[in-house]
Order: sequence, then structure tokens, then C-alpha cells
Amino acid sequence: MSGPIHPGATLGVMGSGQLGRMFAIAARRMGYRVITFSPDCDTPTGQVADDEVTARYDDEAAVRAFAKRVAVLTFEFENVPSQTVEWAVAHCPVRPAGRVLHICQHRLREKEFLSGAGLPVAPFRRVESALQLADAAREIGLPGVLKTAAFGYDGKGQRKLVPGDDLAAAWVPFDGQPAVLEKFITFEREISVLVARGVDGEIATWPVCENEHANHILDITYCPARIPAAVAEQARSLACKVAAALDLVGVLAVEMFLLADGQIVINELAPRPHNSGHFSFDASVTSQFEQQVRSVCGLPLGGTESLSPAAMANLLGDEWANGEPNWAAALAVPGVKLHLYGKAAPKPGRKMGHLTAFGATVEEAAAAVRDARAALQRK
Ligand code: AMP
Repeated sequence: MSGPIHPGATLGVMGSGQLGRMFAIAARRMGYRVITFSPDCDTPTGQVADDEVTARYDDEAAVRAFAKRVAVLTFEFENVPSQTVEWAVAHCPVRPAGRVLHICQHRLREKEFLSGAGLPVAPFRRVESALQLADAAREIGLPGVLKTAAFGYDGKGQRKLVPGDDLAAAWVPFDGQPAVLEKFITFEREISVLVARGVDGEIATWPVCENEHANHILDITYCPARIPAAVAEQARSLACKVAAALDLVGVLAVEMFLLADGQIVINELAPRPHNSGHFSFDASVTSQFEQQVRSVCGLPLGGTESLSPAAMANLLGDEWANGEPNWAAALAVPGVKLHLYGKAAPKPGRKMGHLTAFGATVEEAAAAVRDARAALQRK
């Protein structure tokens, strides 16, 4: 293993959205140079990076040239093709490794990996035809959720199935690609744990986050989650097991369902910083983005303690429906922090930014962040 990558070096990030932008901000603050690679230009990441490479992920020459320019390559987007990673790894360390991306970019591989490692997931079956869907529904029982195995996010590419549904008709939009049917979990809360793991196996988790969704998109994160300490400990311990089983180097989000009886079921993994960890930018000793820098550079991990209870509210393009939001009104809420991602077109459902607020309790923080977001619509 080579030594740490010190400030002054150039870090490469594949993907160019808001996660890469906040990674680049953290890295540049620490004295690194950052270049981003994606098929787009004037991107959220490119706007704050030292350089932005615009090329397709299947452009072998461009990928190799990019990898030769960087001391380490990381990701802000897990759906980078495996072939791209193989080209890059010939020229620079790739962290997390291509194997981690390969597992996490496919729901079936991810669930098989987790259950193979003895970690709790909802009962699931691979489905590749209407016939297999009927068999799977019989075996695991409905209600269930049918999800495409690849490229699903924010509830896209999934459908809830209940007893009596016409399964042949439900299968039609899924036909032609592998899918997974999983049992519908009646959960009490959705929680997530951000975990970072260093080159030497050092591991750190942040306090557990509690997540509320609206229209399948994360809406509000509370940190810490309003759950008993023993459950939080169990959630953090599960996330550490996942990170170790993956041999992760980097940051990983583990999304989980918490059942009424205290049982935890892992829903999904994201091998990168995650929307639910955005609170950490303002409210933690070390943000998930700084931790990504530290871990992929082979440096010691930073402390993950919270400076205050905090809540994060996403700002979707819908906030622009009546014109420019009232930023001054939102920023008048004491302590509120505004993050905008530099995206030009505020489309409905598009993540444009977020707000973070603090409080003596997490409920107070959530009330403040909701007030601030509501104030955006004040005329
Ligand atoms: P996902 O894309 O897998 O993160 O799913 C998006 C959202 O759909 C989750 O945050 C849950 O609210 C819901 N969901 C997904 N899978 C299940 C399940 N098996 N049971 C109940 N709700 C689910």
C-alpha cells in the first residue's frame, strides 16, 4: 500500500452533481486540486472544481487520460460502468473499488451480497418474466415492491403490488430487464447510517439519521434520529459490518427500515456521500465530504460527533414554481444555512439545494428548517 495522498495533489471525481460539488469544496478547502469527469458541462461539481472534463464514460481514451492526471479517483455517482473503472485502475488508485460499485449499482447483487454476509434484508426474489413474478409473489407474499435491478433511485423504476393485482399487466413496463420483488415492509421509521472506512480499515459512523420522504424523494432528515440509544447502536453496528464486508474505502450510506418491534432491515446502499448526510456539512466535526477526502487519500478519519442537533430540508425545483424563492426570508431564520447546487433549470422534483438548521433538540431544528423553507414562498 502506498502512503497518504497529501494536500496539493489532484483528486479525480467521476460524476458531476451536488455530491461531487460538496466533495470538491471540502477537498479544495484542504488544499487539494479537484477535477471532475462526466458527460456534462458547467456542472455543479465543475463550477467549483479546478477543471471539468466533459466526456462519455465509455470514451476509453478520455477515461485513461483523466486517470493519469489524478492521484486517486473517487465517485459521487455509483452508476459508472465497470469497464470505465477497469480502464482507470490501470493508472491510479480507485476508491471505493470497482467491486463495491458493481455490487451497489444493482439491487439484486446488493441484496445477494447483504444476505450472503448474514445482514438483514427484506425477503426478495429475482424476477425476469411475468411467470417468475407470479411465482415470487406466491413465495414471499404480497404486498410487495417490484423494483428494476439497475438504475432505480428516488422511487423510480418501482411499483407496489397488493393482493389481487394483475401481475401480468404489472410486469409489462418492467419487461426486458432483471427486476427484484421484495416483501413490503411496514416500517415505523426510515433511518440511514453514514459510515466511512479508511485505507487501513479504520471505521467511523455519524449519529443515525431519520428520514422523511415526500413523493419518494428525501424531504427532511433529522439528526440524531428519534430512536432509542440501543437501536441507534445496532444500526451503526450494522453499517460498520456492511462497510467491512465490502472492504470499503470511502463513504457509504446504508438506508434502513426500522420496524415497530425494534428490528432493522437494510433497504439500500450508496457507496458515496448521501443526501441524508448533508446535515454533516454544517453540523458535524467532520462532514461526509471531508471524510470522503480523508478516506480516499489514506489519511486518518475525522471525528463524527455532532456540534448540535440538526435538520436538513431538501429544496426541489418546485420551490421556483412561483418565481425566485424569497432567500432573504429563509435566511432570516436564526442559524439557517443555505446550500444551492448551481443548477440552471429548476425542474419539478429536481434537487436544487438544501437548508440546514439547528436547535436545542432535533424537533426544534426540524421546526426551524421547515419555517425557513416555508419562508421561501413568502411574497
Ligand atoms: P428505494 O428506491 O429502494 O430506496 O425505495 C424508495 C422508497 O420506497 C423507500 O425510501 C421506502 O419509503 C419505499 N420502499 C422501498 N422498498 C420498500 C419495501 N420493501 N417496503 C416498504 N417500503 C419500501
